[in-house]
Amino acid sequence: MSIEEMLKDAADYIRAHDDFLILTHVNPDGDALGSSLAAAHIVGQLGKTFTLVSDEPIPEKFRFLPLADRFRQPGDVQREFSHVLTFDCADRKRLGESGALATGNATILNVDHHATNDHFGTYNVVDTKAAATCEVVYRLARVLPVEIGKEMATCLYTGLLTDTGGFRYSNTTPETHRLAAELLSRGVEPYPIADRVFETITWPRLLLTREVLSTIERDDSGRIAWLCVPLEFLHRTGASEEDVEGLVNYARNIDGVEVGILFREVPGGKVKVSFRSKYVVDVGQIALAFGGGGHARASGCTVEWTLEESKRQVISKVKEVLVP
Ligand code: 5GP
Ligand code: MN
Repeated sequence: MSIEEMLKDAADYIRAHDDFLILTHVNPDGDALGSSLAAAHIVGQLGKTFTLVSDEPIPEKFRFLPLADRFRQPGDVQREFSHVLTFDCADRKRLGESGALATGNATILNVDHHATNDHFGTYNVVDTKAAATCEVVYRLARVLPVEIGKEMATCLYTGLLTDTGGFRYSNTTPETHRLAAELLSRGVEPYPIADRVFETITWPRLLLTREVLSTIERDDSGRIAWLCVPLEFLHRTGASEEDVEGLVNYARNIDGVEVGILFREVPGGKVKVSFRSKYVVDVGQIALAFGGGGHARASGCTVEWTLEESKRQVISKVKEVLVP
């Protein structure tokens, strides 16, 4: 099925129903929040009701997004839904606890851009060429059609900006810039958004960065570098999980490094692994091998080993791929 056909089916589905549950992935990033909030604007404009749910509270830096205050956490929602819209989510597991708010036979529309998406929805609009899920939601808005005002445009622009690392990553295409221009012409103010999502560093985040940088290591070839975030770093610095986001880039950005990895200890004896690569290694496939997923240049997984064991297993797998 072509993307156009998928979009048409998705539009028909939204038009035909009301009372949507809108979900995104755990630890939502700018694209997760931008795309799900833009969808809330779409559904709202069509005069339909919606419930936005995220496993975690919305990170402070994204609370400026219009309608962000409408997000609830699963424990605050006392009912189930039979019509569900999911955004930026490659598989059902990524919905976390929120996924349980869907009834067993719920109809799900899965809107995403991850290459590892397993098409878990009843309807799936998965465009792996899109730089961000926000790009797909923009097209959905045009197909329905609904008006794209400044507020919806702000949500869409934020996702586009964050998933392309400020229009720097290899997923940036002429289409990305055309869409950014289109959104700016609808009143989006780029500086306050870039200031909030990229420039502003909280004091705990700075303290955490200092600690995390002291863990930097690289392999003998200098092509793999990694950082660690033991749980106690968060306790000691007062930083929160959202403060960890982006630290993996310090490993990836080192001259000569192809793969940067960040190992973050999470409660319950697990380790969340983030992968970033520059040019050749498909880290989406590496993450998939450990039960996660993502994109060729940015991916992640959660493993049930100690920090030390996670490092051993994951780095040896990356070495295998890098030096065949
Ligand atoms: P991050 O390292 O920033 O958490 O995630 C980088 C990319 O990989 C994002 O696109 C994210 O959606 C994806 N990703 C991270 N962790 C997982 C995971 O456990 N499963 C899947 N399918 N994707 C993940
Ligand atoms: Mn995304």
